[in-house]
Amino acid sequence: MSSTSKKAAIEIRGVSRVYGYGNAQVTALDSVFLTIRENEFFTLLGPSGCGKTTLLRLIAGFDFPTKGEILLNGEDIAPLPPFKRPVNTVFQSYALFPHMTVAENIGFGLKMLGRPAAEIKARVDEMLALVHMERMKDRQVSQISGGQQQRVALARALAPKPKVLLLDEPLSALDYKLRKEMQIELKRVQAETGITFIFVTHDQEEALTMSDRIAVMSNGEVRQVGSAHEIYERPADRFVADFIGESNFLAGEIVELKEETGTVRLASGSVIDASLPGEGSPSGKVTVVIRPEHASLGDPGTGSFDGELVDAIYFGTDTHFHVRLDNGETFVVREQNMRQGTVPHDKGSRVAVRLGLRAAQILRD
Ligand code: ATP
Repeated sequence: MSSTSKKAAIEIRGVSRVYGYGNAQVTALDSVFLTIRENEFFTLLGPSGCGKTTLLRLIAGFDFPTKGEILLNGEDIAPLPPFKRPVNTVFQSYALFPHMTVAENIGFGLKMLGRPAAEIKARVDEMLALVHMERMKDRQVSQISGGQQQRVALARALAPKPKVLLLDEPLSALDYKLRKEMQIELKRVQAETGITFIFVTHDQEEALTMSDRIAVMSNGEVRQVGSAHEIYERPADRFVADFIGESNFLAGEIVELKEETGTVRLASGSVIDASLPGEGSPSGKVTVVIRPEHASLGDPGTGSFDGELVDAIYFGTDTHFHVRLDNGETFVVREQNMRQGTVPHDKGSRVAVRLGLRAAQILRD
């Protein structure tokens, strides 16, 4: 993980963007507040249409907020046209110039800025080395592979030394293996240059593995901001718990509140303790979330609740066990295959679901 400073690179303050008018209005962003720190690999994660691209376009200056302001190093950037902002973008489509060589593409921005030829050459060489493309510098971009084009697009965007680099789903056109390789490359380049990266993806695994911090978005709103660990282990609400990783959601009712936990009577009749959400004290009907890997199987009567094992799906490193609870709900348990062997998990048998420490959490709606 790169060392991020606590200083803000970008502050998004109450930004909304409403498209259209009258009945045909679309609120692409709804009062978004975000602070993205200097040196940070920051990811905007969310399903299609949640407003990720809109937010990047506002930062780049291709579009303007309906409300709110965006500060860069503490200054409002509203008056600056895109080319005067110390911000650059890597697009999903790369947007390279096909009739130019690799080196000409990388040097293009600097040429437009009127930099001296010697400086351009030195910077292009530096960028070629950064993305490991020295040997390809005189090739036309139409003669290089998709992964190589991605490296050139990255080098071209970094050449003018932007303070912030915006990356809009830059890896989505690559096949799985290349994509994994470029994820590592992007992380390395971000760490080596120390430039703040704002990365857009709808791929939760990509966000979890690459980011210093992630903002999870839905319907134009930021639902949670945190490290991969925080977001995965302590999802703020049901949307986040559902969008990231796999979850069991169980309906229940609070029967007692303690300092950090609540006792919940589940719809299936069992009573469990679950940790409370960060804010507010829940009461009445609630939803409890439990990750499949925070549970394991045991002999009937030895866990938090019992059920019937209805399916076991083998995934190589682990197996997913589907347990039908007595009220008909299905609960998924994920066990690493290495750990198996203590309990015979035969389909159709009665089993107990055992919960790990702090496995259950009460969710905010
Ligand atoms: P994707 O992953 O599909 O690119 P996204 O999260 O980037 O999605 P945006 O492209 O920011 O989402 O779009 C957010 C919402 O705003 C969507 O409902 C979209 O249809 C709408 N929208 C975006 N641009 C415009 C526009 N120019 N006019 C009207 N509506 C728009």
